[in-house]
Amino acid sequence: MAELFYDDDADLSIIQGRKVAVLGYGSQGHAHALSLRDSGVDVRVGLPEGSKSRVRAEEQGLRVTTPAEAAAEADVIMILVPDPIQATVYEESVKDNLKDGDALFFGHGFNIRFGFIKPPAGIDVCMVAPKGPGHLVRRQYEEGRGVPCIAAVEQDASGNAFALALSYAKGIGGTHAGVIKTTFTEETETDLFGEQAVLCGGTAALVKAGFETLVEAGYQPEIAYFECLHELKLIVDLMYEGGLDKMRWSVSETAEWGDYVTGPRIITDRTKAEMKKVLGEIQDGTFAQRWMDEYHSGLPKYNEYKKADSNHKLETTGKELRKLMSWVNEEA
Ligand code: NDP
Ligand code: MG
Ligand code: MG
Repeated sequence: MAELFYDDDADLSIIQGRKVAVLGYGSQGHAHALSLRDSGVDVRVGLPEGSKSRVRAEEQGLRVTTPAEAAAEADVIMILVPDPIQATVYEESVKDNLKDGDALFFGHGFNIRFGFIKPPAGIDVCMVAPKGPGHLVRRQYEEGRGVPCIAAVEQDASGNAFALALSYAKGIGGTHAGVIKTTFTEETETDLFGEQAVLCGGTAALVKAGFETLVEAGYQPEIAYFECLHELKLIVDLMYEGGLDKMRWSVSETAEWGDYVTGPRIITDRTKAEMKKVLGEIQDGTFAQRWMDEYHSGLPKYNEYKKADSNHKLETTGKELRKLMSWVNEEA
């Protein structure tokens, strides 16, 4: 059973007694920096000169320095820049500013798990990863609630690294909802697998294949779009609220019967065998190395896939149809 920690298990004064640098001010960075500040923590934001995020951070009342200055001043450094550039930011701005007793924090374990960042022995290495997008993390905090977080310690030089991680999580509202203890390895591998096999990759491929099957059989693309993409939200909302049970309680008996007999014909033993292969490539670092190579060679394949999918009939159909639905906010 997972170990859970709440507000009473965390001591906010630990993080209040430290100097925190938040590097990056995007989805997660802005939520962490603002909420820590509102929790009475001494925070500075580290961003390069000319970064677009600088203006926003300053407007929101935060002190902004370069990443190197922030890392030098602080004794807790949270790296919230995009994963593929974290190792560069670490080499250029963080490494030489680490002193024994400092703590290096992450919102995702990728760079530590696959060895792109190798911190020195005398520092704590922790993770606090909210299980939600940054804007929700901030909004929940402002409303006196919180988004559940997972927390981990990779290196415990101080002997108190987990208490420090819990204290940080409290500062962003995480312990209000609940914090689950994990490891960098578990978080990284399950996160990559989930997004590839189920959440993004699996779902996108399923939606596309369903849409194509109907359109190739001569049905109108607009109808296929509603059946295979639009309605997915209603189904996923039910699962989110009450698992598969609630979804099956809500849909018709016909839909439920079709679910039982057809689902396993679509996601077959072969699919599951492929999932195991995908997981293997995540665990042995193949996926991470390929992604870093792709990123640092200027994203040629990534851009090719992106373009092909933007021009897919599913997308062009959806773009027109969503204009009829004023309640569907494209920005959200
Ligand atoms: P974003 O892409 O939203 O934000 C990146 C930020 O980093 C921007 O403010 C950007 O500034 C800044 N930046 C870019 N280059 C540098 C640099 N060289 N030095 C300092 N700052 C720089 O990132 P996310 O918030 O999505 O991701 C941050 C981390 O959080 C990742 O590890 C991710 O895996 C993790 N995470 C993200 C979640 C999410 O909801 N998005 C959920 C849980 C974890 P500029 O405006 O100038 O580009
Ligand atoms: Mg992810
Ligand atoms: Mg139906």
